[in-house]
Amino acid sequence: MMRLNDEVAKDVDDWSVDDAEEILRTHGCRATGPRVAVLRALLRHGGPIDAASLTTLAHHEEPSIHEATVYRTISVLSEQGIVTHVHAGHGPSLVRLGGDHGLIAVCRDCGGIAELPAEAVRAFVEQAHEAIGFTLEPGHFALEGICAGCAAGAS
Ligand SMILES: [Zn+2]
Ligand SMILES: [Zn+2]
Repeated sequence: MMRLNDEVAKDVDDWSVDDAEEILRTHGCRATGPRVAVLRALLRHGGPIDAASLTTLAHHEEPSIHEATVYRTISVLSEQGIVTHVHAGHGPSLVRLGGDHGLIAVCRDCGGIAELPAEAVRAFVEQAHEAIGFTLEPGHFALEGICAGCAAGAS
């Protein structure tokens, strides 16, 4: 797992909801109420999420937070490398934690997101490199397909 920067003591995998303020501080970001609320919501959710849904979750953390503030906060967190985005299907890009660069798959029927096994992705990246010398950097775009639930429902 890649580290965000050398000052970060813990890997993203170890980040918990209670670390929100510390994460902001170690990234040189003032721990304002909205930033803490948005980050806590994302840490609690744990996966890639669209900004509108993240706004709803941030409301649970801080009921007075405005939608525009959430969007502005997402770009501040993004500039600091605390969050990043991933494109999944034709919808809006999804927000995820900065170091969370796993490859995801999006279902083209229900829009559901699945995290692909890191081991399988690593093997794929290695084999592609051996075969054609190309170093893939998966994580910025999701793969598309049919999730298990939709496949079962269709049969
Ligand atoms: Zn992008
Ligand atoms: Zn599906």
